[in-house]
Amino acid sequence: MTADGVDAVLLSVGADLPYLTGYEAMDSERPTVLVVRGSGTPVLVIPLLEAPRVDGSDTEIAPWAEADDPFALITGALGGARRIAVGDQTRAANLLAIQAVLPDVTWDPASDLTARLRVRKEPEEVELLRAAAQAVDRVLSRIPDEVQFAGRTEMDVARDLQALTVEEGHDVASFAIVGAGPNGASPHHEPGDRVIRAGDLVVCDFGGRRQGYCSDVTRTFAVGLPSGEQEEVHRVVQGASEAARAAVQPSTTCEDIDREARRVIEDAGFGQFFIHRTGHGIGLEVHEHPYMVEGNETQLEAGMTFSIEPGIYLPGRFGVRIEDIVACVSDGVDELNQADRSLRVVD
Ligand code: ZN
Ligand code: ZN
Ligand code: ZN
Repeated sequence: MTADGVDAVLLSVGADLPYLTGYEAMDSERPTVLVVRGSGTPVLVIPLLEAPRVDGSDTEIAPWAEADDPFALITGALGGARRIAVGDQTRAANLLAIQAVLPDVTWDPASDLTARLRVRKEPEEVELLRAAAQAVDRVLSRIPDEVQFAGRTEMDVARDLQALTVEEGHDVASFAIVGAGPNGASPHHEPGDRVIRAGDLVVCDFGGRRQGYCSDVTRTFAVGLPSGEQEEVHRVVQGASEAARAAVQPSTTCEDIDREARRVIEDAGFGQFFIHRTGHGIGLEVHEHPYMVEGNETQLEAGMTFSIEPGIYLPGRFGVRIEDIVACVSDGVDELNQADRSLRVVD
């Protein structure tokens, strides 16, 4: 904060607050805001009814009752700060209320500061991410025997994946994208009532949280024997994944990881169908810094954890994505997901 000339940081909902304090704010219209100054004890402004959730040993608790003005408590704790960083996910309505009484302040996103801390994981964090990755790998290994595809809807399969994710030790199964046939060409397809049938490729992208840390994995399955074209597209994506994973090492840039994957797909003639970045950081949040995207010249460092998830999406026809979580280590890559990446046939 001092080096950046930031006088105070305000943290509310989002992962910065639990990362620094162990307390996760409830996301509601009632503001919870930690006020951190360059020195002194941080002040946690919190709804009175939620104060019992907090272990206040490292913070001063400033509870506000229903008829109180929480923004007066927040601005009081700020004590004349002129440059303030605000947690990225802070509700706009709360920030607007604070800004209304502090017109002469310069505002920054808190991630300018907090991402520098969170982006390099401690060894214990990497092990928590590995445990989450191994859990979804076990879900994938149960797929041919325990998940029926043909004749069932995308939503049916999504529910199975989420149930298995919890069975394998996650606290929450946060999401499951199941895109069958032409729906697979929409990378963030919302699973619906399309009935899966022989000849479909099915993109399955799912994950959740285990002890606070996220999993996020994608495999694409063939329902019955795939066509030569489906096999070829899958082989290209697998090659892109391999190239990007092999390039992971300290001092390689994030955009170079993206270029490694993209080059394989472009060389095969599918460049225009790889319509998203190659990956995103993962930790307490499923998407966080660093992003593997053209233009991001951030150099990888040991302890950074992120996804490698190339894909090819042929509109109206089918899509393929393969996604794994990796950690950058001093001598290269540590692959947290290990599940079979080949095109597996299911029924
Ligand atoms: Zn995604
Ligand atoms: Zn992802
Ligand atoms: Zn994913």
